[in-house]
Amino acid sequence: MDRSPAVPTPSLILPRTREREGWGPEPGLDFDAIVIGAGVSGLYQLYRLRELGLHVRVFEAGSGVGGTWYWNRYPGARFDSESWTYGFSFSQELLEEWDWEEHFAGQPETERYLNYVADKFDLRRDIQFNSRVTAAHYQEDTSSWEVTLGDGRRYNARFLITAVGVLSAATMPRIPGVESFRGQSCHTHYWPKEPVRFEGKRVAVIGTGATGVQTITEVAKTAGHLTVFQRTPQWCAPLHNAKISHEEMRRIRAHYPEIFARCQETYGCFIHATDPRATHEVTKAEREAFWEKLYGEPGFGIWMGNFKDILVDRQANALISDFVARKIRQRVKDPVVAEKLIPKNHGFGTRRVPLESGYYEVYNQPNVKLIDINETPIERITPTGIKTSDREYEFDIIIYATGFDAITGAFDRIDIRGVDGVSLKGKWQDGPQTFLGILVDGFPNMLMVMGPHAGLGNFPRAVEYTADWVTGLIRFAHDRSLRRIEPTAAGAVAWTDHVIEASEGLLFTEVDSWMTGINRNVEGKQVRRIMRYSGGHPAFRKRCDAVAADGYRELTLA
Ligand code: NAP
Repeated sequence: MDRSPAVPTPSLILPRTREREGWGPEPGLDFDAIVIGAGVSGLYQLYRLRELGLHVRVFEAGSGVGGTWYWNRYPGARFDSESWTYGFSFSQELLEEWDWEEHFAGQPETERYLNYVADKFDLRRDIQFNSRVTAAHYQEDTSSWEVTLGDGRRYNARFLITAVGVLSAATMPRIPGVESFRGQSCHTHYWPKEPVRFEGKRVAVIGTGATGVQTITEVAKTAGHLTVFQRTPQWCAPLHNAKISHEEMRRIRAHYPEIFARCQETYGCFIHATDPRATHEVTKAEREAFWEKLYGEPGFGIWMGNFKDILVDRQANALISDFVARKIRQRVKDPVVAEKLIPKNHGFGTRRVPLESGYYEVYNQPNVKLIDINETPIERITPTGIKTSDREYEFDIIIYATGFDAITGAFDRIDIRGVDGVSLKGKWQDGPQTFLGILVDGFPNMLMVMGPHAGLGNFPRAVEYTADWVTGLIRFAHDRSLRRIEPTAAGAVAWTDHVIEASEGLLFTEVDSWMTGINRNVEGKQVRRIMRYSGGHPAFRKRCDAVAADGYRELTLA
């Protein structure tokens, strides 16, 4: 059941056709652009660059397209965005053709969708699968990037575009004995393609983030016995998923323009917009009624559509936290277990809120046990199970839902070197420094789609904007025969300062989570950093649009 990253194997470089004349790799270069990753961002970036007529190669570690939706096939995996806001918006034909089955699609449906997109736009011919990029070095003499694959093959291109995802570098816990376990074990990210059966099995899940919550809910349905090892409980809220009927899909399709326009206006590109009222502006009864309504509605409304001050004002945050705590107490029968499931070290919404479908009720089942590892820490994994400070548990299966070296982790795992061989990992040691979250000074012609300092949120909505911006910049460079694009050091400092400033006063910056760059399983990731832009997507787009409208004069162009 263990599934380690795909071993790179040679794959055929297929002949290609040109959509537009006038482009082509210069002598000595293999491609105009190399894209790392064939997930949501890589697929769309490829589509756009190909429209320009560029000679592009995408290198993808997996054997199929989808990125997050290729790898994370663990039980219960699904997204918390409304499906009909998550799909690509760039093609009317695609919008006409694709019917979403559920309001919040599961991994199989999303993977099917991304495969459909890849086939419809004939994207695979420029994607080289089973090809993990291990190094990318800037070559000053040719103003190009040389990319090395796991099998040693090298390719070069004028532009390097990273589409490596935000949560793609999975991390195992640093617990002694992990390798010694003789049963089946797997990190959720590397879940095998073949089904895993839990009937009659003694199963352990370590980790209770959004992934753990989904996995636990699903595994509890069939496992002989499930033991959950929890370090930090989460503030979860109901997803309220449902099937989409034909009639409903017809109505959604008719409203796509309004839906996407709405996503453009909101802070996180979701359909949920912050309520303009402050928590204390309404009566207690109105507040409770509003929160009851949000708790009963599908999706992120309770997080993204709540009063404007719940994520900045401690008192407001304490009130909504108290509301959700009451819900947990109502749903979990054993009061001792309920208290263990209520977070005490952070307020509601200051970490990413996992949406759930019956998670709390799982703990009312006789086949499920919750272990708080703050009370009885895990000492080691043994050949037969898990040893905590008070006893040894035997398991047939151990599932590690232990998360990711988020945002910069996927960059750190590639030896990326810019001018004078400076390493990106070294440059970002004390936190990322970027210009618009897209460019890095000292790393000319490297463009990041959803790198650090990008705004998080409804991913494809942000991807479409960023990849379009990147495409616009490359078109600008080509039209003027520019060979080298780089932000100024001053520009990168100013943007990084702005990103830090935008996060000030937000309660999430005071909390340890992957969003603040914490991963206790990774050396050097124990100090909080500002990893994402918190000014909201509309402000981000406004700033990026201004740079483009000004003829990219803020960049150094040569
Ligand atoms: P995560 O939120 O970082 O959670 C990792 C969990 O593992 C935490 O409970 C963590 O505890 C625990 N853990 C890590 N190391 C441990 C150790 N050594 N011993 C015991 N416990 C340990 O990761 P994730 O659940 O994979 O989710 C990451 C993000 O992916 C989510 O926040 C979300 O953005 C995205 N995601 C989205 C969906 C969706 O759309 N529905 C689903 C899954 C994931 P601590 O909290 O104490 O560190």
